[in-house]
Amino acid sequence: MIKNITLAETAGFCFGVNRAIELVNSLLDQGKKVCTLGPIIHNEQVVQQLADRGVIIAETPDEVPADHVLVIRSHGVPLPVYKELRQKQLLIQDATCPFVSKIHSIVTNASEKGDIILIAGNSEHPEVLGIKSRCSNAAYTFRDDTELTRLLRNHPELKENSVSVVAQTTFNTEIWKKCLEIFKKDCTNATLFDTICSATQSRQQEAAELSEKCDLMIVIGGTNSSNTAKLFHICSDHCRSVLIQTAADLPVDEVKKAANIGVTAGASTPADIIKEVLSALTDIQNQG
Ligand code: SF4
Repeated sequence: MIKNITLAETAGFCFGVNRAIELVNSLLDQGKKVCTLGPIIHNEQVVQQLADRGVIIAETPDEVPADHVLVIRSHGVPLPVYKELRQKQLLIQDATCPFVSKIHSIVTNASEKGDIILIAGNSEHPEVLGIKSRCSNAAYTFRDDTELTRLLRNHPELKENSVSVVAQTTFNTEIWKKCLEIFKKDCTNATLFDTICSATQSRQQEAAELSEKCDLMIVIGGTNSSNTAKLFHICSDHCRSVLIQTAADLPVDEVKKAANIGVTAGASTPADIIKEVLSALTDIQNQG
């Protein structure tokens, strides 16, 4: 029987996502036609709401209609894509999150002076593709401490050259700490830049603390959102956790059996979806 339902203070839209959505909405309010390169955020409901307002999604610069304003999403885009957009003289509004732009400058400067760049993150994630594209020298990615150990073993040159290390903004903070220990022991020549964004750090820390006190954690977010998946893994280390997209996905029988339920949400989860989940949980609680 449910006793407490606790919502994490850091649940939901982060600064960078909020900024991108507000930019799209303000352009639409001004009567502009808007196109995004890929879905603006990893949330089907928000993407659908924007599609209902006429926003179209292009997969490549060639698909962007000339009379549309192209909004670059918070992950940023790879440098060749950015150059192509400029060449086509498209109307561009850049919503790349400043935390991501900061990583772009770090790797651009470090690789120009000859550093090899190591990126902690998912090599297929658009943010990481954007970071890697700005490395004019060699660059490698690693997902976790195991992959880092393997990378250092397979590339002995990394211990003898100048190396700079950055992390995807939403990288798991606990895994990052393990990786830092490896660098301190096995690759002391590396310059380490802690580029996990502050929104991610506080969200992950709160999720860890809350899940320690709960017997069920509800993590709300898109199934293809990497920061939501990381939150889910962090919570799963401490208690039974479920990942849902909307209130309709709540596992009612399981919820009824829990006493202390914690709720958190990824950076692309809008406030109204979080509210719906909370109200569904309260309904289940009231039914006893
Ligand atoms: S998670 Fe961090 S880096 Fe990514 S958009 Fe949000 S604030 Fe920016």
